[in-house]
Amino acid sequence: MRGHIPEDIIEDIKTRANIVEVVSEYVSLKKTGRNFVGLCPFHKEKSPSFTVNPEKQIFYCFGCGEGGNVVTFIMKTNGMTYPEAIRHLAARLGIVIPTRKMTTSEKRYASEREKLTRINTMASAHFSKNFASARGKVARDYVSKRGMDETIIQEFRLGYSFDEWRDLKDYYDRKGVPPGLVEKAGLIIGKDNGQYYDRFRGRLIFPIVDLNGNVIAFGGRVLGKGEPKYLNSPESPVYSKGKTLYGLYQTKDDIRKRDCAIIVEGYVDLVSLWASGIRNVIATLGTALTKNQIELVRRFTRNIVILFDPDEGGRTAVERSLQLFLEEKIHAKVVVLPDDNDPADFVMKFGRETLEDSIEKATSMVDYYIERIIGGRETLEENIDSIGGSISFIARIADPIERNLFIKRVSERLGADQGLLKTEVARLLKTSGRESTVKEPKRRVTKSVDAIELSLIYMMCEYPEKIPRVIGEKTIDYFVTSELRVLAQRLIGSFENGSGRDISDLINEMENDTIKEKLLQMMVGKQPFDEGVIDRVFEDTLKKIRVKWYKNRHKMIKRELARAQEMGDKDLSARLLAEKGKLLKEEQGSSR
Ligand SMILES: [Zn+2]
Repeated sequence: MRGHIPEDIIEDIKTRANIVEVVSEYVSLKKTGRNFVGLCPFHKEKSPSFTVNPEKQIFYCFGCGEGGNVVTFIMKTNGMTYPEAIRHLAARLGIVIPTRKMTTSEKRYASEREKLTRINTMASAHFSKNFASARGKVARDYVSKRGMDETIIQEFRLGYSFDEWRDLKDYYDRKGVPPGLVEKAGLIIGKDNGQYYDRFRGRLIFPIVDLNGNVIAFGGRVLGKGEPKYLNSPESPVYSKGKTLYGLYQTKDDIRKRDCAIIVEGYVDLVSLWASGIRNVIATLGTALTKNQIELVRRFTRNIVILFDPDEGGRTAVERSLQLFLEEKIHAKVVVLPDDNDPADFVMKFGRETLEDSIEKATSMVDYYIERIIGGRETLEENIDSIGGSISFIARIADPIERNLFIKRVSERLGADQGLLKTEVARLLKTSGRESTVKEPKRRVTKSVDAIELSLIYMMCEYPEKIPRVIGEKTIDYFVTSELRVLAQRLIGSFENGSGRDISDLINEMENDTIKEKLLQMMVGKQPFDEGVIDRVFEDTLKKIRVKWYKNRHKMIKRELARAQEMGDKDLSARLLAEKGKLLKEEQGSSR
């Protein structure tokens, strides 16, 4: 249930949430000067470069560039959306968010989802009870043989479904829950004669939970004989397997801390790795990775290691995901386990260190692709085939840097000319409308942020008493970076309304990451100016911004004038000359 959160409540939450307190729950902070520092939760580091500034209520990491305000911090650490983070903070502060009246269909949908989640939670409790009962010994034996202890049973809420047709069905009957709903949750199956029977029978149960910790579905591994070996809940209004990753709720903190997620195929693999001490793991639920799942992981890391069975199915799954990773700019590695070992077997037989070692030495997806798909070709014809295949493949890689790396490796591997490959890829990109040249120059433009304008913005934040002078001088009109001009106008706006704390929000709302990062860096960084000279630096900056603007204008006029004269356009030339004179006069007037 989402619903709209009123603006004034959001303001209240932001004002009352203290970033130092909130961050301290995740990072141990130490005060240094006007900041607090600690080890960054978003990348691996040994000495602290993660900085929190309580005055401006912002954080910034000098190591990895992550930064923002308290809401951003909650979003990033918990993988939450904006409204989820706001609700999380509200709950923490004891602020009640009034619920908006829902439409009838929204109400029906929300209440159905709520009911199904409640039914799933009940089932999970029932399975846990079975697991602990005398008849649950078979499940407990299996679990302890796999090295899973009590903490794992608790953490993953492991359960057991009796090998009976109506154990769960009878349970819901006793609780007065209509079978239609239980069927919708995927827990029982209806027959033509109006009878129902349990879906999960004689299985070790792995509840599947969403990122909020709600049980949304179940997976069951058969104990003893029976088919299939693994059985999952069908899709339901609360569960979509392509949008869920098993274990993420439990492992997200470790994934974030290690800045890496290991992907395995099933829940038994995941829990076995966890038992061995490897905790940054997630499992797909018997499907090839989907775009939605990658988006989920990407909230926590961009580095992925795939650990799959070496069988044909596993291999195809890996190859299919490779394309997705490249499109989504994920750095992926592949570990192919030797001789029919699944990850659970492997870690049981060879131990954690050996597995971690293989992960450390894992081949990058790029090399994996080249070896598996391109490698092993003998004849010239086969090589030409591979080149054709790899060109269309390379053209789908989103990151130009990764793309060039790929081209280089393929050309080395196949002995093809690098320049030729590049041309072919570029041609394909052009025809498919995803031209590489469109992206790269744009990136270069956003990288060049005007340093002088940026320092004026900084001074406006740091010394708001100087803002009236900026207004009086109309300096903002002379900004060349439009995004900075908008930001400066907003700063003036918030100064005029007398709201001081908005700075972190204003910066946070900026869409240009380069500017955002630079500003955050300045805010939490060392004072760039000596207090004693600040007045002079400030006046200097105002002047420089104007001078630069005039210089630009003159350059532009000069260029156009040259073109007009070349084309013999006398009218245009005259107009441009007049403009030049006006500009000169204006400039002299303004410099006084
Ligand atoms: Zn960092």
